[in-house]
Amino acid sequence: MNKKTFYKKLYKLLENVTPLTVDCGGLCDGACCAVTEEITGMYLFPGEKVMFNPLPVWAELYDIDFTYDNGKEVDLITCIGTCDRKLRPLSCRIFPLVPYAKRGEKLQILMDIRGRGLCPLATAMKITDLDPLFVKRVTMAMNMCMKFRDTREFIYSLSELLDEIKNQTYEKFVKDIDKL
Ligand code: SF4
Ligand code: SF4
Repeated sequence: MNKKTFYKKLYKLLENVTPLTVDCGGLCDGACCAVTEEITGMYLFPGEKVMFNPLPVWAELYDIDFTYDNGKEVDLITCIGTCDRKLRPLSCRIFPLVPYAKRGEKLQILMDIRGRGLCPLATAMKITDLDPLFVKRVTMAMNMCMKFRDTREFIYSLSELLDEIKNQTYEKFVKDIDKL
């Protein structure tokens, strides 16, 4: 399956589902879409760049250090705080959930630790508090990604990054406790 067809399928699967059955943007004033001074954005999945050619006026692409599968580059996409909803990237569609898998182990769907402190759902809720249809569709989409080598390798590398962030968060917590 070519990449455009693949991502069109995933976009469609996640087109009309949201983390809650009500608009969660009201809880946080749309924090995950807010533009900040620091460049933040969303990782594109392997080959997803094809969906942004030509690049829409609301988007910018950046090279970043994060790589997968022995050095393949990952693109970061940023926006101006708004976008064409039909074209929003896969990472935006699944947030605040994220795929997590170690080699040889089953895919898990987790709350994204990177959303803690930003997203009220990722900070204070459990996955079971989210709309089950949203969780189901995200799980289906990420299982489709696990079927292909490049998207699977991307998920493995992303999972390693999430582990690093979790360990750093834990180490900081221990240091802060020591200071008390
Ligand atoms: S930050 Fe979380 S609660 Fe706020 S709009 Fe984004 S997903 Fe919803
Ligand atoms: S691309 Fe759209 S959904 Fe994603 S952060 Fe920007 S405004 Fe939000």
